[in-house]
Amino acid sequence: MAMIYCRECGRRYSDRALACPKCGYREFDLSKSVAVYLILCWFFGVIGVHRFYAGKIGTGFCMLVLSCTIFGMIITVPWALIDFIVGVCNISTPQNIFAFKKK
Ligand SMILES: [Zn+2]
Repeated sequence: MAMIYCRECGRRYSDRALACPKCGYREFDLSKSVAVYLILCWFFGVIGVHRFYAGKIGTGFCMLVLSCTIFGMIITVPWALIDFIVGVCNISTPQNIFAFKKK
């Protein structure tokens, strides 16, 4: 478990917390929904669209490039499936799915 500093009040708290326990500031982007993430993952997951949505641009781009070839899709199809299962398991803990806001 990692500790992060609140950018609003400076308090240190667990990165597993949804928001700062002192001031309620949320470190990750709540405008994104896990439901949308799962839909993107299910229909377009092979090309990594859900990872772009979650802010994981690097691995999303990796999936996009890999899925251009049949061989790459052997990797990205199960990868997307795993992402979908992980997403379902984290419906109530979106901070595990979405990348933290950049400072
Ligand atoms: Zn705070």
